[in-house]
Amino acid sequence: MGKSPASTAVKYRHAGVFYDTHNHIHGMIRSRGGGSDWQSSARVAIRKMDELGIKKIFVMPPPFSPANPHIFTLNELWLAKRLYPDRFECLGGGGTLNYMIHENANGQNIDGALKHRFEKKAAAILNKGAVGFGEFAALHFSLNHHHPFESVSPDHPLFLLLADIAARRQVPIDIHMEAVPEDMVLPNRRILNRSGRNPRRLTANIPAFERLLAHNRGARIIWAHAGWCNTGRRTAALCRRLMMDHPNLYMSIKLSPESVPEVQILQGSGKAIKPEWLALMRDFQDRFVMGTDQFYVVPGQRRIGPQRTETTRHFMDLLPADLVRKIGIENPKKIFRLKN
Ligand SMILES: [Zn+2]
Repeated sequence: MGKSPASTAVKYRHAGVFYDTHNHIHGMIRSRGGGSDWQSSARVAIRKMDELGIKKIFVMPPPFSPANPHIFTLNELWLAKRLYPDRFECLGGGGTLNYMIHENANGQNIDGALKHRFEKKAAAILNKGAVGFGEFAALHFSLNHHHPFESVSPDHPLFLLLADIAARRQVPIDIHMEAVPEDMVLPNRRILNRSGRNPRRLTANIPAFERLLAHNRGARIIWAHAGWCNTGRRTAALCRRLMMDHPNLYMSIKLSPESVPEVQILQGSGKAIKPEWLALMRDFQDRFVMGTDQFYVVPGQRRIGPQRTETTRHFMDLLPADLVRKIGIENPKKIFRLKN
């Protein structure tokens, strides 16, 4: 134990291995009197990675807010990095900085002392060895009773400050934001109605997101979950327009069965990538990475979200070989400034 099983035989068909830049390991035990077992959740991840040809996963705390009962931070995730240094990279801030932003969601009372605390926490995250900041939420729907609704304007003063820190320290920021191009009514879907926490009316967030992008062009911002959007508004056309206007905008790709069909990247049959998405990835081939958003949990614990890893592997097999290299390996290395 403790060594990375780099020589493990893998079963994947495609020649290309890849990095998967947005995932979560969850070591909390919610039965049997609680406790935690981060080692087991890391081991579950390694087994799946070996099976599918995933060279590295990037793990981060989910975007926690004061509404979450069980919060963890980079410190817990770091156990996985210590055990398998070549197979994990960590991002931090979801359990601390995102919490601070949502604790002060209205953006008032952001004084110098709060900003100073925020900056100190951000610096500590990077000094520990995190390769970026994540996961943050600007608009996050509650999809079940354990899942909070979170909403903060993407140009919140602490998001602007985070962009300045990220630019200075040359690390990316990973943001979760359902797309709302203009004010709209919450779509009437079962998954959005389940917990009763999501508001009926949604305020436009794309204009404020563009202000965040323009605030500091040195900040690389990864808008997580391209291909998965519960408002149905994150189309390839919207992504194209934003990527054209904002050279510091990056996207990670998520393929999930519960996504709205009009924003999905694969055709209904799953046999091909939709032409508008493939064209977008080709035209902006330096700015896409994979981000499966898989939760790896302790064996025997309740699964969080559907299994998404196999679909990601399938997508990589459909992708032309040059884009597999770019999206799968070269882009994450460049964007996160990795040595290997
Ligand atoms: Zn997310």
